[in-house]
Amino acid sequence: MSLFVPVVAAAQDGGSRAGAGAFDRYADQLERGEVVITTHADALRDLERLRSEIPAGDARRELRYRYMYCILGIHNDPSAGKAYAEQGLLDARRIGYADAEVNFHFCRGANQEALTTARDALPDYNAGIEIARREENNRLVADGLTWRGSVQSLLGEHALALVDFLDAEKFYDSTGEQVESEQNLFNIAIAYRRLGERKEAREYLDRLMKYGIQRKDLPQQMAAHMQLGFLDVESETAALSSARSHFTEALRIGELIDSAATQASAHLGLAQVDNLGGNYTGALAELARAEASLKISGDRSNGDMIALQEGMAHAGLGEHEQAIGDFDRSEAFLRKSGNLRYYADLLQQRSRSYEALGKTVLALADLKEMIKVHEALDRKARSFTTTLMSYQFDTARREQENRRLAADRQLQSAQLASLERVRRWQWAAIVLGGLLIVLLLWQARRQVRAARRLHRMAMTDPLTGIANRRRIEDLGQPMLDEAIERDESMAVVVLDVDHFKQINDACGHQAGDLVLTRIVEACRDALREEDRIGRIGGEEFVVLLPRADRQVARDVAERLRRRVQALDLGDILPGRQVSISLGVATREHGERDLDRLIQRADRALYRAKASGRNRVEEAGEGCDERETARVEPGHSALAP
Ligand code: GH3
Ligand code: MG
Ligand code: MG
Repeated sequence: MSLFVPVVAAAQDGGSRAGAGAFDRYADQLERGEVVITTHADALRDLERLRSEIPAGDARRELRYRYMYCILGIHNDPSAGKAYAEQGLLDARRIGYADAEVNFHFCRGANQEALTTARDALPDYNAGIEIARREENNRLVADGLTWRGSVQSLLGEHALALVDFLDAEKFYDSTGEQVESEQNLFNIAIAYRRLGERKEAREYLDRLMKYGIQRKDLPQQMAAHMQLGFLDVESETAALSSARSHFTEALRIGELIDSAATQASAHLGLAQVDNLGGNYTGALAELARAEASLKISGDRSNGDMIALQEGMAHAGLGEHEQAIGDFDRSEAFLRKSGNLRYYADLLQQRSRSYEALGKTVLALADLKEMIKVHEALDRKARSFTTTLMSYQFDTARREQENRRLAADRQLQSAQLASLERVRRWQWAAIVLGGLLIVLLLWQARRQVRAARRLHRMAMTDPLTGIANRRRIEDLGQPMLDEAIERDESMAVVVLDVDHFKQINDACGHQAGDLVLTRIVEACRDALREEDRIGRIGGEEFVVLLPRADRQVARDVAERLRRRVQALDLGDILPGRQVSISLGVATREHGERDLDRLIQRADRALYRAKASGRNRVEEAGEGCDERETARVEPGHSALAP
């Protein structure tokens, strides 16, 4: 089973899946013209194959086969074809199969054309088009417009025909069916030819001839030859030899594909060439062949033209009685088919024959009639032009409108796109701006933090974490200023670890460091919240005591000494004690300089050292020479 069989459709149809799929594929190919049907026998064989694929009991597919048979199969028997189509119409309506109904209308119309005249086919074509439009089946609408256009064309309503064909072309374009479209291009060519627009006609025909040769489509080549032959015959300076070769070629193909109707048309064309060239016996011979072929095909549609050409040949030979008989026969056809151009030709020819026979009244009557027909032709020509112009105008206006709409749409979408772009950029700018701000803020914070850290580092002693010399100076001076301002007391204590060098030497630098931190911890524990301690040298420290008078300062210093002495350093310095010596200085009246205050405390410290260490000494008032002299050279507490 093929993968391409649409399972759902097959199941719905109830027939055997393989049969339904094969039938549909083949029917589609035939309908789309993908199978080249050259002869009637080809068509019958292809249709027989299609019939054998109909799934058992599948009424719709059977009907589809039947309308295809109706259109492709019954070439040579119009009355049988018409009856077949009528039965099909009834069955299609019974099972509600709209596409089939449309096709049977077209088929009946086609057979009706061959049976009587083209005009009689119009009701069927119109009905088919109407149903197809209702069903929104573009392909069938296009088919119907093509059928109807052909009739309009035969009736001499070439402008209407052209409008139908051009419309059909649009529908074919929308379905993308190349073959159907080619046939329609043909019709457009013929319509142009009949409207006297020979240049357009020839362009289309040359194109179609090329397609026909490319696709090895003999009927198409043949039809193109016929039309090119007619174009040659009708051109102002009748190109008879070119016309003859086209008709001859058409005849050859007609014989090849066994088409009696084509052979009849080709003979008719050759007869026209002979008549125009003055070879009347030749023309009569061709016409006899045309009639023989027509009899075989059962086609009556060319009867008027054959009779007309026979009349012209007989008239040319001087056989006017006979010619008038031919013209009369032709007239009966032409009145029905309504082809005014040929009718005007006929009237002119017949009036000449009447004249030749001396029947001047009749000759005059025909001439008068001919003038009327020409007037009608003129009116028609004007209305062709109007019809065509209004169609072209409508089309142009529609196309312009479409272009305008398309341009509007394009403009709108361009505007939208640029708006979108602007919006995107705005967003990008906002987001980038935001990011930038965040980045700057982050950077600024980092810098502030770094600055703070640097500041802290610059102000802190790394070993003990207490204030360093600079920090103590920064804190101490304002503290002193405030004390002066408030007239409060303030004291400083300078302390130095006793024999620290020995500790280092005995236990190592690291142990020394640990001892320093323990001493600092002990001192901090012994101080008040507002007191400040700082490291101003290796193992020298300063304590700032705001609002401390001499007694308090002394007590604090003593407390510090005792705490340090009581430190248990067994873990660092097994079996050792440490002690500190301290110098205390209290702000004197008028003393404004922190440095001087500390110097006084420092001198007191050295006194403490000198007096045996592990003790507190108090600075005296002023900066007396004796004390200064006792300070060891270069040993200033605050000297960096
Ligand atoms: P004294 O003050 O009682 O006269 O005796 P000393 O041994 O303490 O004498 P001095 O003040 O001259 O020596 C101080 C020693 O402290 C010198 C140095 O090796 C040591 N020192 C200075 N800074 C540090 C430090 O940060 N860590 C350690 N472990 N030792 C330090
Ligand atoms: Mg020292
Ligand atoms: Mg010391």
